[in-house]
Amino acid sequence: MADYEVPKLNGDGYVEIPGVVRDTMKGSGPFIAKPEFQEALGFPADFGKDENDNWELVPDWKNRALEKLDDLRGRYRSLQVYLDICVKCGACTDKCHYFIGTQDPKNMPVARQDLLRKVYRRYFTFAGKYFPRLVGAVDLTEEVVDDWYNYYHQCSQCRRCSVFCPYGIDTAEISMAAREILDHIGRGSKYNNEIIGKVFKIGNNLGLPGLALKDTLEGLEEDVEDETGFKVRFPLDEVGADVLLITPSADFFAEPHVDGLIGYAKVFHEAGISWTLSSHASEGANFGMFVGSYENMHSISLRIREAAEQLKVKRIVFGECGHAWRVGYSFLNTLAGPFDFLDQNYPVPQHMLDVTWGLIQDGKLELNPAENDDMVLTFHDSCNVARGSRIGDYPGSQFDIPRNVIKAVCNHFYDMPQDTIHDATYCCGGGGGLLTDDLMELRVKGAQPRMEALKYVTGQEGVTHMATICAICKSQFTKVIPYYGFSMDQIVSVHQLVGNALVMKREVSVQARPDEPEGRE
Ligand code: SF4
Ligand code: SF4
Repeated sequence: MADYEVPKLNGDGYVEIPGVVRDTMKGSGPFIAKPEFQEALGFPADFGKDENDNWELVPDWKNRALEKLDDLRGRYRSLQVYLDICVKCGACTDKCHYFIGTQDPKNMPVARQDLLRKVYRRYFTFAGKYFPRLVGAVDLTEEVVDDWYNYYHQCSQCRRCSVFCPYGIDTAEISMAAREILDHIGRGSKYNNEIIGKVFKIGNNLGLPGLALKDTLEGLEEDVEDETGFKVRFPLDEVGADVLLITPSADFFAEPHVDGLIGYAKVFHEAGISWTLSSHASEGANFGMFVGSYENMHSISLRIREAAEQLKVKRIVFGECGHAWRVGYSFLNTLAGPFDFLDQNYPVPQHMLDVTWGLIQDGKLELNPAENDDMVLTFHDSCNVARGSRIGDYPGSQFDIPRNVIKAVCNHFYDMPQDTIHDATYCCGGGGGLLTDDLMELRVKGAQPRMEALKYVTGQEGVTHMATICAICKSQFTKVIPYYGFSMDQIVSVHQLVGNALVMKREVSVQARPDEPEGRE
């Protein structure tokens, strides 16, 4: 199946820390973005290919890289601090799924950080300028740039290592800074930068135009009516709806994502909430975060604000997704706020799971968990939710609420081992802008710790399915899980489970009321 060795699972619930094998993943970076994709994102595009058909760096790349590093450490105090304070205690070394899966020591978080830190020391510290060998400072060379490109694209920015670092050093932030520098010297990742370009041009990562989206949603309405007999609506661009739903575009057609979208629609229908999607902001995932670009993250976020204003909604709700929610929860208000024109009785924005859990607690949804009795569930906490945000209004709500909802709609649920869930959760192996086929080996190997934990509960508790909320986790797992002897359909969306269990009673969906939007002038 693969032309590399897929890690073996032992099934005993322990993630074995492997020995070190140097350079196993050297030169395994993703495809490089062409100048036209760089230009669309505001990055320099004055570079081409050499006589061997390899992409060159931009002219004067060294100065430009150092200027960018200087700019970023000035802009982000945290980056400067992280570059200065590592004491090389080693607590993070065995915490990264990519190190565990690949054995490459440069995938140890501290070694990954050091790729940038050594250059920072050489050019921006007294000791590094005058006694470089004493402090491990190195010159910025093309070889260093190659290592940056390869190994900063072997970090899914999951932040697991930061949980175990006594100083809280966030490797994800260093990795974002490195990618931003790389983008400024002609080393952008094709996958990420093409996707961001599509959002600017069309509105979503997939490049799905408004008409195609409308057709897709109409098809879903027909499917749900055939299945349930109820006319559940999937509205698009409806002015005056109460809720604007921002969801990753994978929800429109990928499996099992679309089953989650069907679940949201059923919840809104039964709860009598009018809602709409937007063709202008038809993407929840903000890849500007992955490439570390404040400017791109800002532009993508503004589309959500524009859609909310145009559609005169009262609330913004994010669908199931991890990376979308990280930007939504942590940054949306700063990037595109204030959202004082929305109903302040609701969180801005609010996660769909928070909406559903609130409705369940208020007795607004009738549920029959027996509808999911053909499954024994476990839950994968997505990194960006687990370590970057909450879902409700108290610490740990991001762990409780998904489990509360699953337990309300399923009779059989078991957690994976404690050191692999909640804030110690392992990344799916495809996060942080690495969900591309050119990184398949990394993705398969990086999934190993999660697969190990899944295998354990499969053996111990008879778990048959793993629910998750992040669009990237869903896509990554369905792709890599067969390498470990599981099948794609063992991955499910949480709202897929909700949709299965929901007892449908309401004959007609509540419609948007464009002429009399409540609560506004
Ligand atoms: S942020 Fe995640 S992927 Fe990156 S080094 Fe830390 S543990 Fe590894
Ligand atoms: S745990 Fe923190 S301080 Fe220790 S080596 Fe890793 S990054 Fe440095």
